[in-house]
Amino acid sequence: MAYCDICGNYDDEHTDGEPSMMTGSNYKPILDYYYSAEMLGKDWAKYEDWSDIFPEVYCMCEHCFNAYDRLGKIKWKVNEPSKLSP
Ligand SMILES: [Zn+2]
Repeated sequence: MAYCDICGNYDDEHTDGEPSMMTGSNYKPILDYYYSAEMLGKDWAKYEDWSDIFPEVYCMCEHCFNAYDRLGKIKWKVNEPSKLSP
């Protein structure tokens, strides 16, 4: 499931097919969701684990991820510059 631990946005996987959940204002199926490097596997993530900054956050949506990336909170691995559009 994808559920943003910061703002509460979620996608299809989080609804369990519940129609009522698919009409919520936080239902954002078109966003990308990013998992912490710890969840994803440190070898797969293009960014460093953020657990030192966001210990309670295991998943964040594109909006939050981009916002924190702009603030310099997301540490990209060497030679992996951000490929996200602003
Ligand atoms: Zn979010």
